[in-house]
Amino acid sequence: MSIDPDYELVIGLEVHAQMRTNSKLFCGCSTAFGAEPNTQICPVCSAQPGALPVINGAAVDMAIKTGLAIDGTINKMSEFSRKNYFYPDLPAGYQISQFEYPIVEHGHLMIEDKEVPEKRIGVTRIHMEVDAGKNLHEGIVGASHVDLNRTGVPLMEIVSEPDMRSAAEAGAYLKKLRALVRYLEVCDGNMEEGSFRCDANVSVRKHGVKEFGTRCELKNLNSIRNVMRAIEFEAERQIDLIEEGGKVIQETRLWDANKSETRSMRGKEEAHDYRYFPEPDLPRLTFGDERIDRVRSTLPELPDAKRARFEAEFNLSHYDAAVLTASRELGDYYETVVAAVAKAGKPEPKIAANWVTTELLGVINKEGREITDSPVSAENLGLLVARIVDNTISGKIAKEVFAAMYESGDSPDAIIEAKGLKQVTDEGAIEAEVDKVLAASAQQVEQYKNGQNKLFGFFVGQVMKATRGKANPGVVNKLLKAKLDG
Ligand code: ADP
Ligand code: MG
Ligand code: ZN
Repeated sequence: MSIDPDYELVIGLEVHAQMRTNSKLFCGCSTAFGAEPNTQICPVCSAQPGALPVINGAAVDMAIKTGLAIDGTINKMSEFSRKNYFYPDLPAGYQISQFEYPIVEHGHLMIEDKEVPEKRIGVTRIHMEVDAGKNLHEGIVGASHVDLNRTGVPLMEIVSEPDMRSAAEAGAYLKKLRALVRYLEVCDGNMEEGSFRCDANVSVRKHGVKEFGTRCELKNLNSIRNVMRAIEFEAERQIDLIEEGGKVIQETRLWDANKSETRSMRGKEEAHDYRYFPEPDLPRLTFGDERIDRVRSTLPELPDAKRARFEAEFNLSHYDAAVLTASRELGDYYETVVAAVAKAGKPEPKIAANWVTTELLGVINKEGREITDSPVSAENLGLLVARIVDNTISGKIAKEVFAAMYESGDSPDAIIEAKGLKQVTDEGAIEAEVDKVLAASAQQVEQYKNGQNKLFGFFVGQVMKATRGKANPGVVNKLLKAKLDG
């Protein structure tokens, strides 16, 4: 895909993040996923007349926590409003949301990725609202059923400023935001299951033009990859339209991942008038600094801070530090490896980083596993690194040991022992092998002595082969040098 270089993209994202509370936003019903339809409902969330909502304090704390993590303003007075519309999965005929006075405003997120230089993206607001239910069609003939288990589950809507200028920036923003809500443990960030959903607003304008172009809102984006693909498709569609003398009309468009296109869902003409008004059944939400301070004290070390610490404390590159702090669990895993290496001998955080990012993440990512169910424990990976550092095994043999550890979950020492992979450092034993190799390669020794220096590698290779890779390479080099050059 290539975007006409005369044009610039303008992108703003709206993310709905399901908060990880045990109960719903305004009642005590469970939020657990996957229960039998309509088993987690009550008069409040099924909108029986006269039932009154009561705010869930845990959800409020999660919104405050997220607001603090994006350096936003926490509004000590916010207000719930009714957003009125009809849909079968919305029994009340309105959604309780926040409109005029959201709980968080004016935050920001720093983004950065392989092809995205560091950039600040504004977060306009975070507000709380309830999720709707689900219409069920599958396996039902002649009717549709409604499951209200999800009705009333708490969401945070996180609205960005129109600060992104490419699909790659939008992807980097979503990755960062998802990592952040996971660090904070306020949302599981699962896009496929719909607990982290994104709508993308896209417009285009010629470079140098001050005003924004007319935007379209894209829906049905269930992965970061799809968000990026949809943005690129939509930008090209708008540019082609403008180049042909047409005009973009403001509308909502659906992404079709199979056809790789967006198509019109509803235009602005049909746009709802939601007739927002303050929710009469709930008082304004007010709290003091004590509550904000209490929530602040629960903040974990955030991704940016952890990354900076890893760079400074472990002398890692900016890139490696980013990889290792992509999730809290991965950061913890790496730090456990580092500690295990240090405990077994001397600290080698850089070697530990290499083993985590290349060997371990290589297989883990390929298999689509989470670091938390790695068959190789952090302690055992640390011991493996320690065995390289103390010369028990070479780096090459270590890869063989690692593969066996991944397979069996055993400790490196058990595998080294069982397979007899211990490095031979005994000079006498290595010297015997060196002598054998030299005796069997009289012709090459002759050529080497006549100036073919490159043959040195051949001799090293022969000795390693004879010892099945177990000879200490330093000792092999030393002995060969003494015998050939001495
Ligand atoms: P609405 O209430 O219709 O959803 P908002 O003003 O809240 O509209 O904006 C929704 C999202 O659209 C925000 O993320 C914002 O950054 C983005 N946005 C606004 N104008 C544009 C534009 N011209 N191009 C791209 N995105 C835009
Ligand atoms: Mg919107
Ligand atoms: Zn309920």
